[in-house]
Amino acid sequence: FKEMSRASVDLEDPLGEDSHMPVPGLVHRYPDRVLFLVTTSCAMYCRFCTRRRIVLNKEHRTERELENVFAYLREHKEVRDVIISGGDALFIGDKFLETCLAGFRAIPSIEIIRIASRVPVVCPMRIDEKLVTMIRKYAPVYLMTHFNHPYELTDEAKKACAMFVDHGIPMMNQTVLLRKINSDPVILRVLFHELLKNRVKPYYLYQCDLSEGIEHFRTPVQKGIEIIESLRGHTSGLAVPEFVIDAPGGGGKVPVMPQ
Ligand SMILES: *Cc1c(COP(=O)(O)O)cnc(C)c1O
Repeated sequence: FKEMSRASVDLEDPLGEDSHMPVPGLVHRYPDRVLFLVTTSCAMYCRFCTRRRIVLNKEHRTERELENVFAYLREHKEVRDVIISGGDALFIGDKFLETCLAGFRAIPSIEIIRIASRVPVVCPMRIDEKLVTMIRKYAPVYLMTHFNHPYELTDEAKKACAMFVDHGIPMMNQTVLLRKINSDPVILRVLFHELLKNRVKPYYLYQCDLSEGIEHFRTPVQKGIEIIESLRGHTSGLAVPEFVIDAPGGGGKVPVMPQ
């Protein structure tokens, strides 16, 4: 019910992505890396989604649109890092995923590819030997996933993570700070330790953004700072993600640190 209310600060497109697309589906905001939104569908719909304006649109990039993306990247040799996201990058079939990976890998200026997916968390049975073996052919590929709470580290999810890492696909995790769900130094410390035990590096902790109807999930920025303060120096540096605010209007990720 709270999702029906709009706060005065809420924005439909909080990260200004729609206005930074040189080609449909491709966000080019930073000099040397791009974000490719391959589908608007997901295996599970997060209530706090930053792209809630487009998920459920059931849009899927076509082969022809993909060709346009490749053409853009062949021209823009400064781009060395491509993030395949969505929606969920693993909510497309293996065949189309391979077309994407092979196409990006064929561009000499592309050094690394990242796949952004919550599938290891919410639909781990999608991850099988066939999938990880296919992805491994296009190394270096990083798998960026999204665990928010230790409860999400089920036996099945751990197994899915192990499959990626065992096949030479390093994993990173991005967590969204959510009021009364994980906005607690103990919960997050447990989460980050458990992720490391499963060979997943905590990469970013995000301040909940300004998407519409999610005000009830937001914490004060101070909460994130407090959490980082409770970790830095008190536990392995490996367990400490960077706390960032993805600035409205396409300002990009701004790290926020304790004094
Ligand atoms: C987050 C993001 C990236 C990747 O940023 P890193 O800090 O390199 O992880 C690239 N493009 C867009 C549009 C993004 O939002």
